[in-house]
Amino acid sequence: MSSPLQQANLWRAMADGLQQAIWLIETPSLKMLYANQAAAQLVGMAVQEMLDCDVRKLAATPQDQIFWQQPLEDITAGIRSYTTVWNADKACQVAVERWVQALPTSVGPGHAGHQEGSPLLVLSMLDRTENETSTQEFEALLSELRATLDSAADGILTCDLLGRIRAFNHRLAQIWQLPETLLTRRDDEAIEAHMHAQVLDPEGYRLRMAMLRRDPLLEVADIFHLRNGSTIEQRSVPQLTHGRPSGRVYIFRDITQLIQAQAGLKLAAQVFDSSLDAIFIADQGHAIVRINTSCQTLLQGDPAQVLGRPVSALLDFDLPIRALMPEVEMAWEAQGFWAGEAMLRTTQPGVFNPVQLSWVVLRDDRGAIAQSIGFMRDLAPQRAVQQRIEELTLTDTLTGLPNRVQLTRRVQTAIDSASKRNAEFALLFLDLDRFKIVNDSLGHPFGDRVLKLVALRLQDCLRQADMLCRVGGDEFVIYLHDASRATAESVARRVLDEMNSPFTLDGMGFSIQGSIGISLYPHDGHCLDDLIKHADSAMYRVKERGRGSYGFYQPEMNANLLARMKMEHAMRLALGSEHMAVHYQPQVDFATGRIAGMEALLRWQDPQMGAVSPAAFIPLAEECGYIITLGAWVMEQAVREAAYWQGIGLPLVVSVNVSALEFRQPGFVERTSWLLSRYGLPGQLLELELTETVLLQDAQEMEQLLGALAQLGIGLSIDDFGTGYSSLAYLKRLPIDRLKIDKSFVDGLPGQESDEAIVYAIISMGRALGIEVVAEGVETIAQRDVLQAMGCDFYQGYLCARALPSQQLRELVQQTRIAVGQEVSANATGPSS
Ligand code: C2E
Ligand code: CA
Ligand code: CA
Repeated sequence: MSSPLQQANLWRAMADGLQQAIWLIETPSLKMLYANQAAAQLVGMAVQEMLDCDVRKLAATPQDQIFWQQPLEDITAGIRSYTTVWNADKACQVAVERWVQALPTSVGPGHAGHQEGSPLLVLSMLDRTENETSTQEFEALLSELRATLDSAADGILTCDLLGRIRAFNHRLAQIWQLPETLLTRRDDEAIEAHMHAQVLDPEGYRLRMAMLRRDPLLEVADIFHLRNGSTIEQRSVPQLTHGRPSGRVYIFRDITQLIQAQAGLKLAAQVFDSSLDAIFIADQGHAIVRINTSCQTLLQGDPAQVLGRPVSALLDFDLPIRALMPEVEMAWEAQGFWAGEAMLRTTQPGVFNPVQLSWVVLRDDRGAIAQSIGFMRDLAPQRAVQQRIEELTLTDTLTGLPNRVQLTRRVQTAIDSASKRNAEFALLFLDLDRFKIVNDSLGHPFGDRVLKLVALRLQDCLRQADMLCRVGGDEFVIYLHDASRATAESVARRVLDEMNSPFTLDGMGFSIQGSIGISLYPHDGHCLDDLIKHADSAMYRVKERGRGSYGFYQPEMNANLLARMKMEHAMRLALGSEHMAVHYQPQVDFATGRIAGMEALLRWQDPQMGAVSPAAFIPLAEECGYIITLGAWVMEQAVREAAYWQGIGLPLVVSVNVSALEFRQPGFVERTSWLLSRYGLPGQLLELELTETVLLQDAQEMEQLLGALAQLGIGLSIDDFGTGYSSLAYLKRLPIDRLKIDKSFVDGLPGQESDEAIVYAIISMGRALGIEVVAEGVETIAQRDVLQAMGCDFYQGYLCARALPSQQLRELVQQTRIAVGQEVSANATGPSS
């Protein structure tokens, strides 16, 4: 057993070594009897300084003072309390944990003056400053956590193992739509009831929650549908403390939009795959990441070839991709998409497919390009249709030649470039002569085939840079590139030469002539319309002068054309308003010296224009087809006139001029025959005057026609004989009754040797073939005598009479008949017509 002194020393040594601050306090004086080193450090006073001092010297706060004033039992109740003491060294308060214990009187270091029976107190203090800061930190952390929780996008609820609510955040209240009352008042049951009431399947929810409660370690995720239409995902994880379950954390997420988005995505995927549009999806770097089925079809091959490659490997744009992208990006910025045309490069080498591209950009939340989608519509079918339409609008369907539209373009480019380099070019307007006859007599299908042959032949006369167009029925326009007057003339010649060689179709040979008018750029006009108009009037001029030739435009021609149009109009009016009349020019029989017949000649007395010459208006009427109406009218007048003479017992043959067009009209023979019977005229008293060109057309058909007319007794006479083809062959074969020597030969009589030879040859030939000969335009007695000496059968001319109105002719005939045997003399000529 150690001595009390030993014990006291041991105690002191122990107490001095303690980390904890210790004081021994005497009661009731509350004097400090002892303080260890740690205590000195804590309060910043030397041990010596504290001894015998009242402990209240250490009390830094009023609460401390109050503590020491309590009854002893309360002070020594062993309750740890927290307070602060003043540290004199550091001039600061130190947070301490303090407890006081009564020491049994037998124990202790012993002290002089210590009152027996009053307990000693041990005052211990532990520096809590560090602890204090970590508590503060902990609290800060906690409130931070709470703030985080509250701002979390997910709703969070924590419960203890019994399901009692520990905490929840704002988002939870939102998701579950917790009423305000439940937020301020803590009522677990009400909250639970509210949540149950919210779900669509409260029973299922309750069972699930019960299961979670039974198994605290379960980690699950569930999806609930709420009555308000939203869909909630609930994840639940156990909360562990020191590895043991201490509660449960529920995390709720409103996935309504997500689900909708997913549904949307699914829909989008379906649309993507089934879309008729070809679609590609590209990543932010414009590399292709996906294409749909339509796109594959359009690619005509393995889609793997394009995946991962840049958009520019799939599509060709007007601009190089580098130049195009700024434009695309601007459009994306402005409207979210760029639209334009592009060529899709198919997997077949060199094969492109035109597409209409709508290129849409998709951006992420920060506005950066995330992806782009290209919707492509196949333009190939549309292009094909367009091309066909273009072809149709630019070409003539019959011949496949360019039409006027294309000509306009060609000429416009020529004009544009010509103005830069002073070039010239020519337009040739070609009109087939009497082509209407081909159509009318052989039918339109045949005419169409002829036009195709003509087109081919014309094309052969031209160079690559020239252009042949069909601009109307039998009208062609030839554009001659870089052509001077001389070039134009030589091409016109070549064309006419080419046309001269006979065509054959269905084993039938025939010839077609054309008339060409030429206008020159820039001399004759500065635009296509003017140039065509002028070439056209030049062509008309050629026709007027006898066809089958060419001519250049001369400025005064236009006036002619206008006059022609006026005349055509007036002519149509004239017949209805009785400005037309048929006059009769007598024909004298050399054998008897008497009037044996007469030629019906059309007369037009216009109130404005005066007497219009048939030489002027008959070709026009032929050109426009009006000759058919006119001719039919003349024919009826003539037949009626002949019937009159027959009626009074003076039968005279009436000759009627028949144009080619009239003659080839279907039903011409029938109508003539009908007229004869209508007026009771024997066919022998009617004669038709035809020109040689009419007879040359279709030999077989001509034979039939003439045969039918001859059958009716109608006489056939060849007009203007000697000016045309004068082929002996047809004279032998066809039933011709008379030849009329053209006035131009008669003019040279007597004296002109060649004319005399021709006239004599004609008369001899007629006699040899048994065909009568009539001399036209006999104006003098000398002419008449020569003709008579040559053995001509009849004559006609001013020497006897001009063409006279029927009444005057009747008077003339009466006179000559009265003077039977008398020669008809020039004196008998009536007033000129
Ligand atoms: P054509 O058939 O050769 O007619 C004869 C022309 O010579 C008539 O001219 C007549 O007036 C004219 N003539 C007759 N004797 C003389 C003469 O001694 N001296 C002169 N200088 N001329 C004389 P016209 O009446 O001006 O007729 C011109 C042409 O018009 C006719 O030539 C004929 O081709 C055509 N024509 C006239 N009437 C008709 C008609 O009703 N139908 C058709 N298809 N053509 C007609
Ligand atoms: Ca005649
Ligand atoms: Ca004649």
